[in-house]
Amino acid sequence: MSKVKKKVKVIKIDVDKCNGCRACEVACSAFHANPKYSSNNPARSRIRLVREPLRDVYLPVYAGEFTKAECSGRDKYVIDGKEYSECDFCRASCPSRDIFKEPDSGIPLKCDMCEDDPPQEKPLCVQWCLNDALTYEEREEEVEEEVKMEDVEVGLESMVNKFGMQKVIDTVARMSKKE
Ligand code: SF4
Ligand code: SF4
Repeated sequence: MSKVKKKVKVIKIDVDKCNGCRACEVACSAFHANPKYSSNNPARSRIRLVREPLRDVYLPVYAGEFTKAECSGRDKYVIDGKEYSECDFCRASCPSRDIFKEPDSGIPLKCDMCEDDPPQEKPLCVQWCLNDALTYEEREEEVEEEVKMEDVEVGLESMVNKFGMQKVIDTVARMSKKE
């Protein structure tokens, strides 16, 4: 399989620099409002703060994938003497909690790196984090080229035309037994 170059976007989070100002939540929700910047509501943000000032806990967390069931095994982190709750580092939009969901509809929210129109040089949350707790990096990596489903379908069709459907089915069955 051939290799292609892929741009990898990374937001680095330095929790020691976060003061819990929540500017990132405001900026994210305003950028994704419809129309853009017409409102802001941190409940609609794709970055959320775990914020416990009395324990000096300020932890920015980005919205990741949707999961339809909450997990049964959980982790508990203690870092620099501070104990974090079981779900604090989790990025999932999950039934066990309210964050990373559109508050009115419950539709899961996921960070899109602000790739929406107009294209941003840096994600909005990074631009508005004046304490540099969030910094942005880009790099290029070589990855295997993705096989597009249309290419697979065209390939299968031409094999069926050439060898006949039964022969293709027999070959696939034989190959799957070998694995
Ligand atoms: S990168 Fe963009 S979409 Fe993701 S949390 Fe930051 S502002 Fe929101
Ligand atoms: S804008 Fe930066 S300092 Fe403020 S809460 Fe977000 S990550 Fe923390």
